[in-house]
Amino acid sequence: MKPVMALVGRPNVGKSTLFNRLTKSRDAIVADFAGLTRDRHYGNARQGRHEFIVIDTGGFEPTAESGIYMEMAKQTRQAVAEADVVIFVLDARGGLSAQDHDIASYLRKLGKPTILAANKAEGMTEGVQLTEFYELGLGEVHAISAAHGQGIRSLVDLALATL
Ligand code: GDP
Ligand code: MG
Repeated sequence: MKPVMALVGRPNVGKSTLFNRLTKSRDAIVADFAGLTRDRHYGNARQGRHEFIVIDTGGFEPTAESGIYMEMAKQTRQAVAEADVVIFVLDARGGLSAQDHDIASYLRKLGKPTILAANKAEGMTEGVQLTEFYELGLGEVHAISAAHGQGIRSLVDLALATL
């Protein structure tokens, strides 16, 4: 079984952009994987000789109590449960939000390998704007740009190294 990587984060941080970059056009053959729930968005990805499965999720509000947000939170919890490693996507430009703190506390309790990716970091001076994300208590923060393809390879290397 290939390792499974779940992309988690609040809406609009760039999870789907990252998913598309990681999976390219490989997401057609995903339905073959028994045991994975179908109603989330799965894709196949490869880096070098390593193949893995990526799960895109909707925006996650762990405290949502009704409607579409509760359903999305349920879907995301399921995706995280299936994952071997979680990529927690943050917005390097938008900064930290209350939602990020909620997601972080959920992920800290789970104790699953989690990697922080501060997206939209193209053209930003590495490190300077990322210090606030260390407040989340989930370790090191990695600057990426899903849209421009920056930092993706080393992010994937790190994620695969946790397995
Ligand atoms: P999701 O809701 O987390 O899945 O976010 P999307 O992937 O739909 O992206 C939300 C918005 O952020 C879109 O307008 C994207 O074009 C934009 N976006 C995604 N990645 C980047 C990035 O690396 N840099 C910048 N500047 N914008 C990005
Ligand atoms: Mg999306």
